Amino acid sequence: MSLTLYNTLGRELQAFESLKTGRAGFYGCGPTVYNYAHIGNLRAYVLHDVLIRTLRRMGFEVTHVMNITDVGHLSGDNDEGDDKMVTSAKERGKSVLEVAEFYTRAFFNDTERLHIVKPTVVCKATEHIDDMIGLIKRIEAQGFTYSAGGNLYFDITKFPPYGDLARLRLDDLKAGARIQVDENKRNPHDFVLWFTKSKFERQALVWDSPWGTGYPGWHIECSAMSIKYLGETFDIHAGGIDHVSIHHTNEIAQSEAATGIHPWVRYWVHNEFLVVDRGKMSKSGGGFFTLQRLVDAGYDPLDYRYFLLGGHYRSQLQFSYQALESAQNARKSLMDRIMERVNALPDKSGSLPGIGLEQIPESLTRRKPGIYLKAFNAALENDLSTPRGLAELWGLLRDPEVNPADALIGAFDMDRVLGLNLAGEVEKRRFPAESRELVDEIETLIAERTAAKQVKDFAKADGIRQTLKDRGIILEDRPTGTVWRRG
Ligand code: AMP
Ligand code: ZN
Repeated sequence: MSLTLYNTLGRELQAFESLKTGRAGFYGCGPTVYNYAHIGNLRAYVLHDVLIRTLRRMGFEVTHVMNITDVGHLSGDNDEGDDKMVTSAKERGKSVLEVAEFYTRAFFNDTERLHIVKPTVVCKATEHIDDMIGLIKRIEAQGFTYSAGGNLYFDITKFPPYGDLARLRLDDLKAGARIQVDENKRNPHDFVLWFTKSKFERQALVWDSPWGTGYPGWHIECSAMSIKYLGETFDIHAGGIDHVSIHHTNEIAQSEAATGIHPWVRYWVHNEFLVVDRGKMSKSGGGFFTLQRLVDAGYDPLDYRYFLLGGHYRSQLQFSYQALESAQNARKSLMDRIMERVNALPDKSGSLPGIGLEQIPESLTRRKPGIYLKAFNAALENDLSTPRGLAELWGLLRDPEVNPADALIGAFDMDRVLGLNLAGEVEKRRFPAESRELVDEIETLIAERTAAKQVKDFAKADGIRQTLKDRGIILEDRPTGTVWRRG
């Protein structure tokens, strides 16, 4: 099995080879927590999730690092405008930290509802100022900086590969009409590493630094924190397509200037936009849809996830309630198919087949479901084609020659990447709320018993079996794990 990814650096499909065998380091630019995430932002995080889940299912041990931007992100990516956090705090009559905490919590509430797996490391910009200062010192020591008007700038002319990622031509990099030129900049695309005196003197959060009391530019946080947690060179960096020309271009310049290592990141993965009525969805512009707004309109967050999976991440996706409704209907039919298979099992109320399996049994891959699983893997490994992956899931569930248990094992295995919570949704349908708690309890006891057996504490293991038996639950140990049924 090998994964092919479209690398923005080089603009081509490339076979993924990790720096360390069996391990992958992944950094995805996280949210700026001055407002709720909109559903366009969430598209980016669902893509990161699919990529990470794909790598894990392929056997990689993935370290996923996500930053939380709670300082330094101005309304224009190119050092223009006001600090988004400060503006938001002012509007809401709260402190910057209160705003950050509130929207960080809201963000993870959204990602949890979308069944996005939590990152291995979540790091806040404000808690890593020392790391940023340390990295800026290295950049300065290498001769890439200059001070002007109280701020410290990165001089892009000292870094010849500047703009390679975005294929910018430096001759063309004249200040465009859109860019409000900072007169301290020697070149319009130079950018701030550290602000001290400037129009942002009203900044709420400031820190001491060798360049004076102030605060970091936006881009440095991602360089500093990714290097801290993933090393001076790592495998994959992801973000939305809007970050290619400024944010990621500047991250590369800073990191490579500091370390001298090229390339800093081996694969750059960028998602296209979610659009509404042909316009990009943005936090400041119109058409601001939050996940909660979709829930209030009667949709399940997983309907939105299903809708996203139906498009390839490198194509723009047009959002409409009509499209969301189609996704809702499709997901409902999918669950109906799965319930038909569950109801056709010899024991409808016991453990679901395939739950907790790390690997599909070989015997199953040699049978008919193997065809769908192989095609599913090929789809995901071909630059994460979730639309084709979904089609294979449908194929598997529609095939009358595949027996119910095999169909479920295959579907749950595919769901390790799709993240539609298929097994959890089955349990919701099979058991009313109170008995769902019972199922959770049984699963927890089974896990405890497995752990006890591993450390040869057979007395405890037998005790758990007996406790469950007394309550009418019979455990059976199979080569693929322990299953339960009602006795
Ligand atoms: P932000 O919270 O603004 O820093 O953005 C978080 C992530 O969402 C970044 O990776 C952006 O590139 C991405 N993003 C912003 N707008 C959209 C959109 N309309 N569609 C898809 N991704 C987006
Ligand atoms: Zn970033």
